[in-house]
Amino acid sequence: MLLESEVDRSYTVAEEAKVKREIPHTIIPRPTQLKQERIIFGASTIVPFLGLILAIALTWYSGASMVDWGLFLGMAIISILGIEVGFHRLFSHGAFQTTEPVRAILAIAGCMALQGPVTYWASNHRRHHAYSDRLGDPHSPYVKNNESLGLLAGLWHSHIGWIFDSERTCPGRYGRDILKDAMLAKIDRHYFIWVLLGLAIPAILGGLLTWTWMGIFHGLVWGGLLRIFLVQQGTYAINSFCHAIGTRPFQSRDNSCNNLWLTLPTLGGSLHNTHHAFPNTAVNALFWWQIDPGAWFIRALEFLGLAWDIKVPSAEAILLRRRKGAIAAKNTAPNKF
Ligand SMILES: [Zn+2]
Ligand SMILES: [Zn+2]
Repeated sequence: MLLESEVDRSYTVAEEAKVKREIPHTIIPRPTQLKQERIIFGASTIVPFLGLILAIALTWYSGASMVDWGLFLGMAIISILGIEVGFHRLFSHGAFQTTEPVRAILAIAGCMALQGPVTYWASNHRRHHAYSDRLGDPHSPYVKNNESLGLLAGLWHSHIGWIFDSERTCPGRYGRDILKDAMLAKIDRHYFIWVLLGLAIPAILGGLLTWTWMGIFHGLVWGGLLRIFLVQQGTYAINSFCHAIGTRPFQSRDNSCNNLWLTLPTLGGSLHNTHHAFPNTAVNALFWWQIDPGAWFIRALEFLGLAWDIKVPSAEAILLRRRKGAIAAKNTAPNKF
């Protein structure tokens, strides 16, 4: 007779096999839906860019105050934590466990970064890991559909171009656990409310802290639009530059790289070669001289009793993965999926 745990495991394996057999990797939306999505994706890209131009104009006209900088930095840290600690390490990889309220806060904070709902983000990211830098990767700088990409075209595609592809990662295959999670599904359904909240909070604070109408406008631009633009660029740079330039201390089957210069703006996300070598790790800084504010935040949650089951690779695993000898060749060979 099977033990209870064995019954559960065999069911999961059978279910997994069924999903792999029956659910496609990607789907192509109907033309009207595709058009609507492209308008939303376009607005999500262009409106924050307008925020950059407005911030430059406002600074030129009246300078930037401490309130402007404070709202920008405060909202940036909240939304990057939402993306890197929430969407990425927690929801995409299960790198640690935490309470329901902390999960909800991280999910909402990530939505404020205007990079799509949790299911969309995590599904694309998991497909990226499944096919990193090979055919099937949604945003590799080396390959798109069946064609190899040159340097500039590859950087453009991996940074931002892929968002407008007509193929969509199938959430039924890559995000089933998130779709089944009632709380995350509810947060996803109200995605645009959280985006608006991420604009309203700095605008209201700007008004209250300066008691002027211009304070509201400055708060909206600095803590809202400019912040979204720069946080988006940080995440997108991990997809583009961190698969093109940087150091590769660990063996991985892709061209992921670590970039220290991006560590602070991505709160540790740019230690991307380390991440590809150990996708489930909650801590990307595996050497004393590396900086990983995302891991500091997870450790702070642990200290408060709010995080547990924090995954970190063992010393033996780290040693085994250290790269020896020559740089690995680019793995761009088309690989049908
Ligand atoms: Zn990657
Ligand atoms: Zn990842």
